[in-house]
Amino acid sequence: MTTHLMQTYARLPVHFSHGSGAWLWDTQGRRYLDALSGIAVCNLGHAHPDVTEALCRQAEKLVHCSNLYEIPLQERLAEALCAHSGMERAFFCNSGAEANEAAIKLARAHAHRKGNRNPVIVVMENTFHGRTLATLTATGNRRVQAGFEPLLTGFVRVPFDDLESIEALARDRQDICAVLVEPVQGEGGVRVPAADYLPGLRRICDENGWLLMLDEVQTGMGRSGRWFAFQHHEDALPDVITLAKALGNGVPIGACLARGEAAEVFQPGSHGSTFGGNPLACSAALAVVHAMERDRLPERADEIGARLASGFREKLGDVEGVTAIRQRGLMLGIELDRDCGDLVSQALEEGLLINVTAGNVVRLLPPLVLDAEQETLLLDGVSRLIRDFLQPMAECAS
Ligand SMILES: *Cc1c(COP(=O)(O)O)cnc(C)c1O
Repeated sequence: MTTHLMQTYARLPVHFSHGSGAWLWDTQGRRYLDALSGIAVCNLGHAHPDVTEALCRQAEKLVHCSNLYEIPLQERLAEALCAHSGMERAFFCNSGAEANEAAIKLARAHAHRKGNRNPVIVVMENTFHGRTLATLTATGNRRVQAGFEPLLTGFVRVPFDDLESIEALARDRQDICAVLVEPVQGEGGVRVPAADYLPGLRRICDENGWLLMLDEVQTGMGRSGRWFAFQHHEDALPDVITLAKALGNGVPIGACLARGEAAEVFQPGSHGSTFGGNPLACSAALAVVHAMERDRLPERADEIGARLASGFREKLGDVEGVTAIRQRGLMLGIELDRDCGDLVSQALEEGLLINVTAGNVVRLLPPLVLDAEQETLLLDGVSRLIRDFLQPMAECAS
């Protein structure tokens, strides 16, 4: 097919015309169960009536208004997000990368105020923070970085889930100002750190006057089984949280939340966004927040995710070639001993949308509104696909 699109994506040969909840339909009328949610975006499912209604109503009144004026919907959204997260102020933007850019600028500005003129941010191996120049520098994946050098300075990388290497940095260096980390690594393969990791990071940050900044772009808004993934722990309250993906259930909106000193860093003129926090996007995000509260979606994600994980352990736990099954809320990762990118198109043929990340991890991010029938379909379908995928190799080997 001739195309005028830049070739940033190798697209699967299907296009969807509409959706409802966890279902999607293609233009041939074929139905698919969506276990990807647009990569953790449509947490409420497709065409959620509350979001649709909020968008229609707001579009009739006012789509855009510059941040040079007061925007009450933005105030209300900031208040709701702060109430759920323990933060104090919000800055709104349009994507995850932009939210992380805001956090990186905030950390640097905070350091400069304290007299650190060459501040360095600690980031992790195997992480993902976005595709802008600062966030791809922070991203610990050579495939994201290669060809775009020179990268930025001001980052130091350590292994994920390893407090010892951060303690060592704290002993050796005076220039560090913040730690930026995903509470569960998403693109990296659904990697859940040890229970003491985030509280440990909080303690080290406190001891050294560093900001703890959590990239909850993928884990946030109920995906992890809490409103925010750090809430699985006591004593892990961060200074900064970045959000995007599920915040507008598909309407582009991102946020950088902060508390304490970090919340007071930005002043008029220090940062901004033309579209950020416009009335249309904020109306969608407010509808998302209210639906999550009313339908207790974080709790639902926790319950469904735990059931799915135990189902997969039962069906796949002793299948040769399955090396790990990881889960937090409705983030599920099934790691195989070999690359399995082909599973994505095999699943598509069976009417299932799944994802493979880090080469060999089947990643499932279904909507938080999955019903019992869909849960069974997903469990049975994905288990069968993975068994069939692993089987021929096992026969050859024996
Ligand atoms: C998706 C993602 C991003 C980037 O978000 P964009 O909206 O694509 O810029 C950043 N961090 C994490 C953890 C993500 O999963």
